[in-house]
Amino acid sequence: MSIFSGFKDLLGQINKIDGSIYMHGRDFADVYAKNIALEEEIAARTKELEQANQTILTLNSVWDMMNSSQPLSSMLDKIVSILHEDMNYNFAGILKIEYEENNTPYFTVKSCSENKSILKVYELANQTMEEYKLPYVDNSIIVKSIIERQIYSTPDIKGILKMFFSIMPEEKLASVMPEMNSKTCTIVPLHKGQENFGCVIVTSDREGVTDTETNFLALFANQIELAITVAGLFEEVRKQAVTDPLTGLFNRRYFEDNIVKEAERSLRLKQPFSLVALDLDFLKKINDTYGHQFGDLAITTISRVLKREARSIDIPARIGGEEFDLLLPGVDSTGALIAAERIRKSIESQVLDTIGGVTASIGVATFLEHSDRIDELMELADQAMYKAKLNGRNQVQLAQLQNERPWQQVAVDIFMDILAKKRIPIDESVANIINQKLRKLKIEDSNAKEVLFSICDILSQTYNQMYKTGTTKSKLLLAVMLAKRLDLPSEEIDKLRIAVLLYDIGNIMTPEQIFNKKEPLTEEEKDIIKKHPVIAAREILEPITNIQDIIPIIESHHEYWDGQGYPGNKIGAEIPITSQIVLLVDAFYAMSQDRPYRKAYNIEEIKDIIKSEAGKQWNEKLVEDFIYVVEHESLQ
Ligand code: GH3
Ligand code: MG
Repeated sequence: MSIFSGFKDLLGQINKIDGSIYMHGRDFADVYAKNIALEEEIAARTKELEQANQTILTLNSVWDMMNSSQPLSSMLDKIVSILHEDMNYNFAGILKIEYEENNTPYFTVKSCSENKSILKVYELANQTMEEYKLPYVDNSIIVKSIIERQIYSTPDIKGILKMFFSIMPEEKLASVMPEMNSKTCTIVPLHKGQENFGCVIVTSDREGVTDTETNFLALFANQIELAITVAGLFEEVRKQAVTDPLTGLFNRRYFEDNIVKEAERSLRLKQPFSLVALDLDFLKKINDTYGHQFGDLAITTISRVLKREARSIDIPARIGGEEFDLLLPGVDSTGALIAAERIRKSIESQVLDTIGGVTASIGVATFLEHSDRIDELMELADQAMYKAKLNGRNQVQLAQLQNERPWQQVAVDIFMDILAKKRIPIDESVANIINQKLRKLKIEDSNAKEVLFSICDILSQTYNQMYKTGTTKSKLLLAVMLAKRLDLPSEEIDKLRIAVLLYDIGNIMTPEQIFNKKEPLTEEEKDIIKKHPVIAAREILEPITNIQDIIPIIESHHEYWDGQGYPGNKIGAEIPITSQIVLLVDAFYAMSQDRPYRKAYNIEEIKDIIKSEAGKQWNEKLVEDFIYVVEHESLQ
C-alpha cells in the first residue's frame, strides 16, 4: 500500500470520525432540543395532571358531600365556594328556575359566592338576593344554554347584568363593572333528569375559555346535577320516614297524620280514643350533670317503656326532644288513666346507668269526653301534663272537662300554660312567685279569686310601676256589675271575667320606658301602645286553643262605638259588648290613677269625661248603666 493510499485511507477514516463527530454533534444538539421539548411536554402534562388531580379532588369532595346527606342548600354553597376559591373563578352562582302561579318562569339564586360587586348590584337595585326574581328571558344566552344543554361563554357580562337588572339605570350598572374585574362569563346548564333545573354561572378574568376548562365545568355540572337528584331523593325518603332515629318511636308527622284519622274514625263510630302526653322530668339537669349521652339514655329508656306498654294498635310517638305522645284508640279516660299510671310506674322502676332513675309527668285527655277537636285535645293533654309538673312531677293528671271548669280554673290553666311555655318574658323570680301561688291555689277555696287577682296585679306591676295592688279586683267588680245590668248570660260574664284578667297582658311586650315616660308620647310610641291588644290576643293567647272564645273580646277592647278605635276600626254592634265593657273599665281605672304625665281625676271628672264619650267610645246605654253603677253601688 502506498503511503498515499495509506494517507488517503487515514484521511478517509479521519473524515469518517470527523463525520461521525459531526454527526454526533448534530445528534447531541438534537437530543438536547428533544430533551427540552420533552421537559416542556412533561411540565405541560404535569400541569394537566395536576389540574386533572384537582378536578378529581374537587369532584371527590362533591361526591363525599353527597354521601353525607347534607341538605341541598349547604351542598350548593360548598360547590359554589369550590368554584370560587379552589378553581379561581371571580364569581360563581347557581340559579334555579322557579314558576309563578300563572306558570311564568323566573330565576332565583340558590347559592352564590361571596362577591362584593354582586352584592353591590343588588344593593343598587334596592333588592335582596333572597327575594328578587331574576327575569327568564327567552333567547337570552342563559335560557339558550339551558334549553340547548350547551355550555356558552360570553365576554358581555354587562349585557347579562342588564338583562337581569333591567330595573336599574345603566350608569349605575356601569359603575360596578370595573370592580367585577371579569372578562368572561360562562354558563353551564343544569338539569334534573328530563327537567330543566337552572344553571351555574361563573366569571373569570381570563379571556375566553379553553376546552379543558369547558370539560371540567361539564364534569362539575354532572356532579351538581347528581347532588340535586340525590338531595331530592333524601328529602323524599325523609318525608316518607315514619320513625324517629334515636328511639325508633313514631315521629311527629306520623303521629299527626294518625290522630287525624283516629279522630275521623272516632266521630264516625262515636267511640272515644285517648291521648297520653308525657314529658321527662328534669332532663336539662340530667344533661347538665352527666352529659348529653345520659340525657339520651333517659330518652331511650322512656321510649322502651312506651313501646313495651303499648298495644299493637296504639301509637307511641316522640313529638319533640323530650315530649312523647301515646295514642290509645278506643280507650276512654278511665282506661287511659290506668295505662298512664302503669307507664309512670314502669318508668320510675327503671334502673339507669350512672343516672340511677328517671321519672315523667303525664297528662291524659280523651276525645269526645274532653273535646271533639284535635288541637284542643292536644292542648288539654298538655295542660294536664303541666298540672302534673306543677303538682310535683312523676304523676298522672286527667284533663279537666271544659264545661265543668269554673272560670277561675280556666284562668289558672291559662296562667299555667303561659308560664310553662314561657309565652311572656318575665323574670324568673316573678315566674317563681306566680308558680308558687298557682300551685297552692285550690279552686274550691273562697280565696281562689284573690290569688288570681294578685297574680294579675303582679304581672301588671312588672311593666307599670304605678299599678296599684287591688286594681284587678276592682276592675272585675265593676265589669261584672255592668254585665249584670246589661243582662248578659252567665257564660258571657265568665268570659268577661277572664278577659278582664288578661286583656292587658300584651303590655309585657311593650318597652318599659314608654310606660314610665314623663313627657307626652310621640306618635310612634302611641302606635306601639296601640299594638298591645293585638299582640296579647294573637301572640300570647292564640296558641292556647281552648280559650278561642275569649280572644275576640280582648282583641276588640280598643274599638270605639263610632268606629274610631283600633285595631280593626269596628263599629257599633260589630264590637262585642264585653269588649266595650273592658274598654270602659280600663278607661275608668286609668283615669282614677296617677300617670307620670298627669294626676288622677276625681270621680266627678271621670263621670263627665265618660258621659261626653257616650255615642263615641261607648254606646249610650252602657254609659247610662255605668253612671248608674258608680252612683248606686260600692266599687270597693
Ligand atoms: P321539666 O321537669 O320541667 O320538664 O324539666 P326539664 O329540664 O325536663 O325541661 P326543660 O324544658 O327545661 O328542658 C328540656 C331539656 O331537654 C332541654 C333540652 O336540651 C333537652 N333535650 C331535648 N331533646 C333532647 C335530646 O334529644 N337529647 C338530650 N340529651 N336532651 C334533650
Ligand atoms: Mg322535661
